[in-house]
Amino acid sequence: KELTREEKDWVVKAAVEAFSEHVNPGFLEYRKSVSTDYTSVEWSDQGSTFTDVYGKEYIDCLGGYGIYNVGHRHPKVMQAVYNQLDRQALHSQELLDPLRGFLAKLVAEITPGDLKYAFFVNSGTESVEGGLKFARMYTGRKSYIVTTRAFHGKSLGSLSATAKGVFRTPFLPLVPGFHHVPYGNAEAIEMMLESCAFIGEDVAAVLIEPIQGEGGVIIPPDDYLPRVREMCDRYGALLILDEVQTGMGRTGKMFCCQHSNVVPDILCLAKAFGGGVMPIGAVVAREKIWEKLVENPFLHTTTFGGNPVCCAAAIANINVLLEENLPRRAAESGEYMLGKLKGLAEKYPAVVQEVRGKGLMIGIEFQNNELGYEVATGLFGAGVLVAGTLINAKSIRIEPPLTITREQQDAVINRLDKVLENVNSSAGK
Ligand code: PMP
Repeated sequence: KELTREEKDWVVKAAVEAFSEHVNPGFLEYRKSVSTDYTSVEWSDQGSTFTDVYGKEYIDCLGGYGIYNVGHRHPKVMQAVYNQLDRQALHSQELLDPLRGFLAKLVAEITPGDLKYAFFVNSGTESVEGGLKFARMYTGRKSYIVTTRAFHGKSLGSLSATAKGVFRTPFLPLVPGFHHVPYGNAEAIEMMLESCAFIGEDVAAVLIEPIQGEGGVIIPPDDYLPRVREMCDRYGALLILDEVQTGMGRTGKMFCCQHSNVVPDILCLAKAFGGGVMPIGAVVAREKIWEKLVENPFLHTTTFGGNPVCCAAAIANINVLLEENLPRRAAESGEYMLGKLKGLAEKYPAVVQEVRGKGLMIGIEFQNNELGYEVATGLFGAGVLVAGTLINAKSIRIEPPLTITREQQDAVINRLDKVLENVNSSAGK
């Protein structure tokens, strides 16, 4: 149904109100400045660009906060959903629909090592909740080691692992037993070791992101994951990798842990797992954990998790990622963009502090929060959508669809160059 002018107004107003300044400052600034005459505009979002209700086209470097890995509304994913709706929509009974089992088999094939069983959920935070509970069930222990600047979601369990005071404080007390240690470097490893030794027999799991996304795209040294894996083995703790943001080809391999050949005991997936079309995530575990879980399968359940429509989208999504070789494309495009962005960082050192990235998960850190805000706002005006981060206000993220073309990448770089030039000259005044 065509929305009336009033309905569109309402939708836009609600969207503007829902956006927090912290998450996307550019959005608010831009909305304040444009006219509201958009009655004739049609929505269209395909590939890596989209047009807003005002008819303005953007190159999407936000990727719906990392969900559009196969591009917006990929025709094969859309078609899979339409077909499934015609067959059967929401039904939590795998005996009547084999899709859940089929998806689980595909997931076992594409995930590394002996990860074998998948429990399907509806979001990232739920996949982390599942991982945390499975670790307790399997080990019979109660504590977790997690990292500063981590983001794992905002339901009570995952929030207990998330490391940002403003999100945590209003909901205290959170779940007990979470110990935060620094992330990434050799010193961080020492502190993790010390915490393990201190907590000793009670560490159920170490939960980390292989690259911290909301923390501002923080990439640990190459030996970090292998050393954390070793530590887990030494203390009998499980390793839970949260690949909600890094998974599904984003970093140049299907899963980020494949860069360092580390196999976690539990892998958490969501975001791009549903092809940018449906909400679905997964908790993928090794057989030994699953054996423990099925002793009482009703201890952890969810009505909608793994429903046929979401499974259809996820299956089509995996097929597209493989068919179009998108992890490799992300690696190549990422290398190109990172090189260009590093050039801009050298050109404008008074504005940009650092550029870092792996594949098409790229962070730009500014000299201060205000400069980041100005650049995000400028980019928004110039038709490039970027993402702020929930934990690190000095950084923005570049996470376009993995299908982004070279031409679009060049356009992003050129527009950013102009925005940086403006911000740089006004900063000098
Ligand atoms: N884990 C990570 C690493 C994430 O980046 C996010 C979302 N930014 C989540 C968990 C939570 O996912 P969701 O918003 O789907 O609950």
